[in-house]
Amino acid sequence: MNELEVWKDLSNIPADPPIMRELCENCERPSAVCWCSALPPDRLSPRSTIILLQHPAEEKRCLRTAPMLQLGLRQDKCLIFKGKKFPQPRHDNLENILSQPNTILLYPSKTAIDIRDLQNDRESYNLVLIDGTWPQAKAIYASSPILHPLKQVKLLTSASSSYIIRTQPTEGCLSTLETAAEALSQLENDPTYREQLVEPLHMLCKYQLENGAVTHQSKEFLLKTRTYPKLIGKRLSRLLRSTEDQNILNK
Ligand SMILES: [Zn+2]
Repeated sequence: MNELEVWKDLSNIPADPPIMRELCENCERPSAVCWCSALPPDRLSPRSTIILLQHPAEEKRCLRTAPMLQLGLRQDKCLIFKGKKFPQPRHDNLENILSQPNTILLYPSKTAIDIRDLQNDRESYNLVLIDGTWPQAKAIYASSPILHPLKQVKLLTSASSSYIIRTQPTEGCLSTLETAAEALSQLENDPTYREQLVEPLHMLCKYQLENGAVTHQSKEFLLKTRTYPKLIGKRLSRLLRSTEDQNILNK
């Protein structure tokens, strides 16, 4: 076939609905919506390690950012453990990690200190994040006594979430990926993490917006302005119901 014929052939392929559902081997998403090209060229290797304690429901969300974090960081720099309480026998090495003196918990309690105030305190940290909605995170914390003695830190940032597809429960709430990236940047005083790790998220948002998703402001804002239900189409409303609650890691 010459070039013109190839083009003709291609242009006969119906654009909608998509006929190919091949999955990317890396991110396991359909190749049309794969964000791997936006990952850092080389996996980033911070001094500290991110420990993600993930509620099982979080993994089932259609829009989830933990895989972006996992694939953006060197393999041993992002460890994900799943469950409703921690540690469990299947959580290899977690008990050991949680018992180390340089392990800190990102948890927005009254006694939590600003993560920036930790600088130069230690060479590196194990930064524990609870990945789930606020009620899920609170339940995980309550049923995991091993977390209670950990030093608690909070993330103060004015950066608003770029994850505009998912509604945010309150203003200034970030996705897991953004939270971890921002925390690493503040902890290590290096903007690389907040700049590079979130690129796949930007790519995903751009794709979703170009394909008909509505930009969502936080639920709080939308309820205040009474525009919330009007903005939502059938498909998106389904999507939002499945991602109803939100990450609260920095709130
Ligand atoms: Zn991919």
